Amino acid sequence: MFSVPQYDVVVAGAGPAGSAVAIMLRRAGVRVCLVDALRTEGLKVGESLPGAIRRLLYALGINGIDDLLPKNHYRACVANVSAWGSEQWTYQDALTNPEGGGWHIDRVAFDAALRQRALLAGVPFCQTSITDFTSDQATNSNNPGYLIQLAPSVHQTPAFIRTAWLIDATGRRAFISRRLQKGRQRLGNQMAGACWVAAAPNDPDHTTRIKSVPDGWWYTSLLPSGFRVICFQSLPVTIATLRNDSTDFLRRFNTAFDLPQPINEQQPISIRAVDASVSRPFRVAEPGLLCVGDAALSNDPLSSQGIFFSLYSGLNGAEAIVQCLTTPSMATATLETYQRQIDEIFAANQRSRTYFYASESRYSSESFWRNHC
Ligand SMILES: Cc1cc2nc3c(=O)[nH]c(=O)nc-3n(C[C@H](O)[C@H](O)[C@H](O)COP(=O)(O)OP(=O)(O)OC[C@H]3O[C@@H](n4cnc5c(N)ncnc54)[C@H](O)[C@@H]3O)c2cc1C
Repeated sequence: MFSVPQYDVVVAGAGPAGSAVAIMLRRAGVRVCLVDALRTEGLKVGESLPGAIRRLLYALGINGIDDLLPKNHYRACVANVSAWGSEQWTYQDALTNPEGGGWHIDRVAFDAALRQRALLAGVPFCQTSITDFTSDQATNSNNPGYLIQLAPSVHQTPAFIRTAWLIDATGRRAFISRRLQKGRQRLGNQMAGACWVAAAPNDPDHTTRIKSVPDGWWYTSLLPSGFRVICFQSLPVTIATLRNDSTDFLRRFNTAFDLPQPINEQQPISIRAVDASVSRPFRVAEPGLLCVGDAALSNDPLSSQGIFFSLYSGLNGAEAIVQCLTTPSMATATLETYQRQIDEIFAANQRSRTYFYASESRYSSESFWRNHC
């Protein structure tokens, strides 16, 4: 009979949140394992990092973005430029930001580099996905624990693993907490249509540009790889229509931005549709289970705070679990503190989200904007 590997903590998902929580747990001496099939299709949305991320990287033992990524995978974002509430372009220069300017990153490289840090810290990695899990009494801990089933994989991963704690770091999919039927609050109904196009030669625009239009809002940035990401946030029905007409998608983009070098509207592109609504489970922490990153709170892309929040919740989530493992008598209070931290972040984000959407008053009668009221 095969023995089943046993851990204190299993982290489902090796995006930024999963890698961050795994690094911190391992550094605290916890037996932690990271699981992810890494099925990302080539490129991934989420490519702007705020300057404040430095502080979180330091906390993870990473000495800044240049310590994490080779030069060809990140580039300074010189300004945020927006036409929101009027046709007037407003520049917010990175130099005026007290936290320092942010970056545009090649996202897949960023996630891979963070995951590599977890592996270097000594975290075992199972390259497969979690297909199922059941409560399990055999973990010798105060929690019931879980017996986790892994998908068969060419990477010689075990079929089952056991753990006292399970961390949901599976992103918006929130595979673990949804399976446990924790319920998820969802605000609004926003989708994003994203594509990556070869940038025009010598494209000089190293800003993040945002523009509101009657049926949604656009953003675009030039990535270090030479691709320009183009993303349109709108109602699901609009995104579904535009996905079938990429020429119209690019024409609308060119009209909205009027860049010095317009994008070739006839080039073949594939538009990826991704959920872009705000959502969260009602509970992010209970004995044996903790949610981090998008699984704990999926923010509106307008905030550009998703990766920041993923690292932040990863750091705080790890601290909470270490506290629960070392001082079980404090577990209830510790988990409540973590829950409160996430609730407070959600409330603060909601306040600024409401403020920003309300400040676009020109289109308040349009369905997309009514959806945000
Ligand atoms: C349109 C759009 C634009 C955005 N732009 C930005 C931006 O500019 N800046 C920013 O900071 N944020 C941005 N975000 C948000 C950002 O991308 C997310 O907040 C971030 O990816 C969350 O990280 P995570 O680690 O929680 O989840 P993810 O990065 O989604 O990682 C989850 C991981 O879990 C794995 N997984 C899923 N199911 C299983 C399973 N059953 N078993 C094992 N593994 C599993 C997946 O393979 C994946 O690797 C944007 C989001 C959207 C929708």
